[in-house]
This record gives sequence, C-alpha cells and structure tokens, in this order.
Amino acid sequence: MKITLLGTGTPIPSLTRSSSSYMIEIGTDVILLDHGPGAFQRLMQTGKRAQDVTHVFLSHLHFDHCGDLARLIHHQWDAVGGLAPRFKIYGPQGTQEMVERLFGPQGAYHRDLTARTSHPVSLRIFKSRGGGAQRPPPDTAVTEIADGTRVVEKNWTLEALEVLHHQPYLESLGFRVTSSNKVFAYTSDVKLSGRDGPVKALYSLAKDADLLVHYLNGFDFDMAAPGLLTRQQVAATLARDAGVKTLVTTHHGPAIDRDGVRERVIADLAEIYKGRLIWGQDLMTFEL
Ligand SMILES: [Zn+2]
Repeated sequence: MKITLLGTGTPIPSLTRSSSSYMIEIGTDVILLDHGPGAFQRLMQTGKRAQDVTHVFLSHLHFDHCGDLARLIHHQWDAVGGLAPRFKIYGPQGTQEMVERLFGPQGAYHRDLTARTSHPVSLRIFKSRGGGAQRPPPDTAVTEIADGTRVVEKNWTLEALEVLHHQPYLESLGFRVTSSNKVFAYTSDVKLSGRDGPVKALYSLAKDADLLVHYLNGFDFDMAAPGLLTRQQVAATLARDAGVKTLVTTHHGPAIDRDGVRERVIADLAEIYKGRLIWGQDLMTFEL
C-alpha cells in the first residue's frame, strides 16, 4: 500500500499545509481518510481525479476534516455522474445528514443541480459523454460507521475505533488499515492528556503499525506539575509502547511548525521514540 499525505494542516488556512486528508492506494482502490479544505488541490497534484477515488472515510465532522468533500462529490458527479458509480462514503453519525443537506433535493446545491439536470446545454454535455436523456442527480448514499466498525474489501480491511476528541458534540474515529500484513494507522484528532498518557483505545489502533500518522498540533515545554507528560511525549510514548515502526506527525499549525519550536519538539519525540520519525509535510509518500 502507498500512503500520500494530502493535508497535514489545521483549521488555520495555510498555503503550505492543506487541512487533514490522507490517500491510500491499494491495487486499483484509492481510499481517502478525511478531505479537509485544500485537500482536493493536493489530490490533483498527485495526478488523481475525483473519479479515481473509490472510498472516502471521515474521522469526524470538524470542517478541517471534511470541507473539500462537497468539492470531491461535485467534481466526480460533474465528470462521470450517471455513467459510473460514485466512491463509497463512510463517516460518523451526522455524515448522511451533511451530504443530504448539500446534495439532496432540498440541499444547499439544489439550484445548481436543478440547472445541471435540466438546462439543455448541461444535458447536451451529459449526452456527449455517453449519458441518456435524463441526467441523474448526485448519489447521496452514506454508510455511517462507529467504534468497532470493520469494512472488509478484497485487498484490505479498515477498522474504525473511537478516539477521544470533542465528544459529546462530535463522534470521532481513528482508522487502522491492514493490507498484505502491513498496517497503516491514523489517529485523527485526539486528546493529548499529559496526566494519563496516551488514551487506551489508541494502543489497539496503533499496535505494531508499520506507519502511524499521529495528531500533534499542541506542544508543551514547561509542565505545571512534575510527572506530567508533555503533549509530544504522549505521542512518542504511544508510538514506542505500541511498537510502531514509523511515526509521522501531522496536524501542524503555525505555532508548532516554526523554527526553534519544531526542532525542540522533534528532539523531545526522539528522546522517547527510537523508530523512524518524520515531521509530516503535504505530498510526502510512504510505501508499505
Ligand atoms: Zn477535530
């Protein structure tokens, strides 16, 4: 499997870091984990088109993890809607409602969709691509997933595990993808608690992963009380104790991703975690 970091940023807009998105290629499957603002541009930079995507999994519904989903759906539909099936969409509770409220008959895009399914020019373009007299609207089907959901495809399995983030307002999932005995794990956004160390669920998510992409937005250099772990120590402790082979940090905002801070955080990580350590950047790729 090949992993490409499409977006390693945060909700803060950035020209160098798109918001969260990761692409996994396994055989002919192109799987996206999250698709935050800017991620579609990165997808294009890899040479992929919306219609090449086969699966999308959303970890949670913070906009920096799903803001470009509407764009992805629209581009796929505009190019091949009604001619080829759309990629499958999976996400936590609320994902169906979000897609329906965007692309459903009463959705935010209904005027655009009505025009594109009714105007003779749009219908002519559809016909020239091999379509019939009727142009069907976008597919709004979603499979909602929760803690413990396993999606089994021919060449890979994805397991969703609940991670502690902004409950009870948002359900949040991390993902563990297994293919040909290789494991890719993605924490999504997680609470980095200094008092308790890594959250328990993260150990089953990250156990023996060949590659772990770990959220690391905040950092601490001076802890208020002795014995507390800094946020970067929490991430490194998980990677070490779970036996992770490569740790990639992500979700870097401008506060952590600046000269003088970045190096100190990396040094703190390296003190605990002795495996291969990468400070994630957009468009980095990893072969497992
Ligand atoms: Zn979040």
